[in-house]
Amino acid sequence: QAKREGGNTSRFFEAELDEKVQERRRMELDLRNALHRGEFELFYQPFIDTSAGAIAGFEALLRWRHPQRGFVSPAEFVPIAEEVGLIDSIGAWVLETAATHAAGWPSDLKVAVNLSPLQFRKRTLVDDVAAALERAGLPPERLELEVTESLFLMDTPAVRSALEGFRALGIQISMDDFGTGYSSLSYLRRFPMDKIKIDQSFVRDLEDPGNLAIVRAVMGLSHALNMTVLAEGVETAEQLEMLRQEGCTAVQGYYFSPPRPVSELPTVLFEIAARLEETNAARGEME
Ligand code: C2E
Ligand code: MG
Ligand code: MG
Ligand code: MG
Repeated sequence: QAKREGGNTSRFFEAELDEKVQERRRMELDLRNALHRGEFELFYQPFIDTSAGAIAGFEALLRWRHPQRGFVSPAEFVPIAEEVGLIDSIGAWVLETAATHAAGWPSDLKVAVNLSPLQFRKRTLVDDVAAALERAGLPPERLELEVTESLFLMDTPAVRSALEGFRALGIQISMDDFGTGYSSLSYLRRFPMDKIKIDQSFVRDLEDPGNLAIVRAVMGLSHALNMTVLAEGVETAEQLEMLRQEGCTAVQGYYFSPPRPVSELPTVLFEIAARLEETNAARGEME
């Protein structure tokens, strides 16, 4: 009896597993077709320099509009793309599209593009990026590339030479989601970085003394290493004010704007200007 039940249970799990495998295969197949079916789209979220009182640029965030499932999150499909070897072609599309969009913006605005660490396996990455900028007519100084700490698990000499290649072209490099990965502070010395993006998990609760201490430490470090610090995931005026008191004036988050379709960017520019005035007015009253 017990044995039979065990058999049923494992059959149950097998069926369950089977369904997961099937589901995953369908997703893979759909992802393989997504590019040529034109199902990808870039949304843009502004990042703000509150000390200058202006938008510094927009981060490109990839969206997949699945014909049946609707929007699929990049947190879900980027790992699959990496696993099945699609990240190079998708990454190339993102770069080309973002550079083309940005070339039409006011020239004081930058565009930030996320790179998967796996894209660094391609020996021609730096040349490919340079060629995409050239085709789009975007000066390299207007591009920022965002990498995550997992990049440092890759082959060090190749990664270093790519990062140096980007910087030699005038492209800026940002460390994304700082503090969540395999952080070793020595990486920041060994690899050239222009900007640190403090992960939103630290920004979410700045009342937590631990989080505040981390923000302070990153500010101090960045000063010594000559890097800019940006706080991700800023959602409230209180967070903005606390960050400002810590000297962190580069911010990004829902407080200013969620990621929006490219057609809405002119509206976003107006909205942010109004928001910045509001923030300044509120601060003026406080002081
Ligand atoms: P990320 O680069 O750290 O992007 C920030 C994420 O936080 C975005 O999620 C954004 O929508 C979200 N976010 C922004 N402000 C706030 C806020 O105030 N509160 C909260 N709760 N969330 C906020 P999204 O667009 O879902 O992207 C998730 C991740 O997917 C990105 O994290 C990035 O790692 C990856 N990703 C997105 N686009 C690309 C791409 O083109 N290539 C690669 N390789 N990865 C990408
Ligand atoms: Mg990013
Ligand atoms: Mg991030
Ligand atoms: Mg993230």
